[in-house]
Amino acid sequence: MDGERCKVVTSRCLTCGYSSGDILLRCPRCGGLATLEYSELRWRVNEGDASIWRYSDLLPEFSRRVSLGEGLTPVRRVGTLYVKLETANPTGSYADRASAVLASYLASAGVDRVLVRYAEDFTYSLATYLRGLAEVQVSLPRPAEVDPLEVLSLADLGVTITFESGENLIYENSLTVEGLKTIAYELAERSVPAERVVVPVETGLLALALVKGLREAREAGIDVDYEVIGVVVGGEEGNTLLTRVRGVKVERVSVEEAIESMVLLARRGMKVKLLSAAAVAVASTLGRSLAVVTAGYGRRRIRKLYTRSKVGKEVLRVLKKLGEATAYEIWSKLDGRFSLRGVYKSLASLEEQGLVHYRYVVRGGRKVKLYRALEH
Ligand SMILES: [Zn+2]
Repeated sequence: MDGERCKVVTSRCLTCGYSSGDILLRCPRCGGLATLEYSELRWRVNEGDASIWRYSDLLPEFSRRVSLGEGLTPVRRVGTLYVKLETANPTGSYADRASAVLASYLASAGVDRVLVRYAEDFTYSLATYLRGLAEVQVSLPRPAEVDPLEVLSLADLGVTITFESGENLIYENSLTVEGLKTIAYELAERSVPAERVVVPVETGLLALALVKGLREAREAGIDVDYEVIGVVVGGEEGNTLLTRVRGVKVERVSVEEAIESMVLLARRGMKVKLLSAAAVAVASTLGRSLAVVTAGYGRRRIRKLYTRSKVGKEVLRVLKKLGEATAYEIWSKLDGRFSLRGVYKSLASLEEQGLVHYRYVVRGGRKVKLYRALEH
């Protein structure tokens, strides 16, 4: 898989130091993780672009760019904390940022078949992004550790499941880092008034990407400085990746605390995964923090359609004006410009993204949902 070279000066292996002028996903010499270094960085934001490609000057260049509208996720206040809701991405996780870059790379290189090693959220995201571009096979090297529902979702996408290895793509690669670092750019662009950014640690790649993104934003002339904290749940072993990253402090949290935090967030309308809840739990003890909620539950379809659509925007606008309203009341205010069904679908989508919350009330003997818009 040959990449294109433009601004990219060097791919460098974090393990052995091997370097190359091509875009390398992994090190060809030792198999370690490679990252990309740029010759010159300029902070330029394509204001009109509502995806990670608004930072195209700080990303690799490709002849074909793939996007489903990932990135620019909302930052919400939860008590004294800020929470960045990556669940608002097209397939509901931060992995969509990586998928946009990887799919662009693969499509530009004319790759029509790819074997990806299963990784929670990532493989589903990438398969979604590669629909119609390349045939995707997913390998399950440790089938017992796989979320069966996710395998069914993958099957829905037309992905072939295999138990063989020999993958040519795994989650930990240079372009995943490029995609994920855009979270740091968004924080820099919005200058969120926090002192630290708290992220869940599974492989350590997200923390690494944030450190890289913040460093690059500074090199590009932006005055941004957040301490990056990686959160590990329970007694899990420290990650090998993080031992190679300077500037990440690791905090531990018990499974009990993580579950408590998960339940608390669910009550506020945010069904986030345990690891993300753990990051929120730690962030709340540290103060002046922003926690990145990387993934949630129950969002396995493309959301883009309704949220970035006219109906989604109109529904939110009307709902903010009304305070609390049923779907029917919202629809009535829209003067028949959209179908009632469209309003229902839009509300379901907004709700799953944490933009709208509802409670049940009884109206005329019937149980109805009363919606309200959440503040961002
Ligand atoms: Zn190497």
